[in-house]
Amino acid sequence: MHTPEQEAHRLAGGEAQAHRLAGGEAEAHRLDEVDPGHRHLFHVPPADGGDHPESAYLAGNSLGLQPRATRDELLADLDAWARLGVEGHVEAARAWLPYHELLTAPAARLVGGRPAETVVMNSLTVNLHLLMVSFYRPAGVRTRIVIEDAAFPSDSYAVRSQARFHGLDPDDTVVRLRPRDGEDALRTEDVTDYLAAEGERVALVLLGGVNYLTGELLDIPAITAAGRAAGAVVGWDLAHAVGNVPLSLHDWDVDFAAWCSYKYLNSGPGALAGVFVHERHLGDETLPRFEGWWSTAAATRFEMTPVSRPPATVEAWQISNPPIFAMGPVRTSLEVFDAVGMPALRARSLRLTGWLESLLDEVVVGRPLRVVTPRDPARRGCQLSVRIGAGSAAELTKRLRHEHGVIADAREPDVVRFAPVPLYSTYHDCWRAAAALAATVGKVNP
Ligand SMILES: *Cc1c(COP(=O)(O)O)cnc(C)c1O
Repeated sequence: MHTPEQEAHRLAGGEAQAHRLAGGEAEAHRLDEVDPGHRHLFHVPPADGGDHPESAYLAGNSLGLQPRATRDELLADLDAWARLGVEGHVEAARAWLPYHELLTAPAARLVGGRPAETVVMNSLTVNLHLLMVSFYRPAGVRTRIVIEDAAFPSDSYAVRSQARFHGLDPDDTVVRLRPRDGEDALRTEDVTDYLAAEGERVALVLLGGVNYLTGELLDIPAITAAGRAAGAVVGWDLAHAVGNVPLSLHDWDVDFAAWCSYKYLNSGPGALAGVFVHERHLGDETLPRFEGWWSTAAATRFEMTPVSRPPATVEAWQISNPPIFAMGPVRTSLEVFDAVGMPALRARSLRLTGWLESLLDEVVVGRPLRVVTPRDPARRGCQLSVRIGAGSAAELTKRLRHEHGVIADAREPDVVRFAPVPLYSTYHDCWRAAAALAATVGKVNP
C-alpha cells in the first residue's frame, strides 16, 4: 500500500512511463484524486477557448489567483470605514494604526525571518530603492553592483539609476553575470568565482532568488556567504521565490531582501510588497535611511516632534501610513500559506512540476522547443520555461489561450513560461498545457 503522496510521486515521475501524453488524461485525473491541492480556495478564471469550462491557469508566476476569502475580508475593512470614519484607526476590529503588524508574523514565517526583520510595505521596486539607500554605499574602488544578465528589467533599471544617483557610470558599475556559452542558467560557481576574483570591487550583490525568465533557483546561502566573505552587501529579490520555495533568510545571513505579493502570494495586482533586513543592521544609526512619520517608533508617532525616534526593527524603513485596503488581501493570502505550510506546498510542487516536465519531455521531441529551466528539482521552483525556436512567444500563448483555454506567459521574443502552482494548479492543467503545446507547435520534418 502506498500513501497518497507516494502514489502521486510514483505516477508523476517516480517511474518513467512512455507515451504519457497520449494516454495521460486519465492518469492526470487519477493524480488529481490522490494529490488534490487547494484549488477550492481560489477563483479559477473561466476558459476563453477549448473544451473545458475552467482555464488551465499556469500563469500564477505572473499574477496569482484570487483567494475566495479575499472579497469578504476586503468588504469588512470597507464596512469599518463606513461605520467608524476616522475612529477606525483605533476602533476597527482590525484597527488601522497597527494593521500592518497583523502581516508581520506570517510574512516572517514565510521567508524565515524574525518578526523584527520583516515588514509589508510599498511595492517591490520602490522597496529595492529604499533598501539601496541604506545598503548600496559605493566607496573607493568598491562601487560595483552584481546582478544577473537575465535580471528582471525593473531591477536592472533600479540598480543603473542608483549608480547614476551616486555619480557613477552605470555601464562600468553594474556587472551582469551571464551563463556560460551553451548553457541556459547560471552555475553557483559562476557567481562565487566572480566574487572571489573581483570581490574587493563589489559593493552590492543583488540577484533574483528564482530567476523570472528561466525559473532557476540560485543557491542563496552559498552566494550570500561568498558575497559577504568578499566584503560586499548581499541582497535578494525574491519576487519569484517567495511562496514558491522554502526560505531561511535569517539563518542564511542575507543582508536584505524584498519581494512582491501578487505572484505566488496571490494578493492581487500591484499588491503590497515585503522587506527583510537582517537583525545585525537593525538599530544601526550609521545607516542612511529615508524617513517619514511611519519610521518613528509607534509610541512616538503622535508626539508631533520634529525629530524621529526610529525603532530598532525593520519598521524604521517604513515611511508612510499604509493603504489598509491593500493590506487585507495580503493578510488573507498569508493565512492560506500558514494553514497549508511551505513544506507541504514544496512537496506537492516537486510532484506537479515533475509531472509537467515529463510531459514536456515528450512534446519537445521533433519540435523546435527546449526546456531551459534546470532539470535538477533542487535548482528550480515550480516554473518551467520553454524556449521556442521559431515564431513569437506572444503569438503562441495567444493560441494556447484562445484555442485551448491554457493560460501561460510569454516573454518576448522566445520564452513561454508555465508555472504549475502547488496551491491551485492540477495535474490535468499540466496535461492540458502539454497537449495544447503539442497541438499548436508542429513537428519539424514530421
Ligand atoms: C515582478 C517583478 C518585479 C515587479 O516590480 P514592481 O515594483 O512590483 O512593479 C520586479 N522585479 C522582479 C524580479 C520581478 O519578478
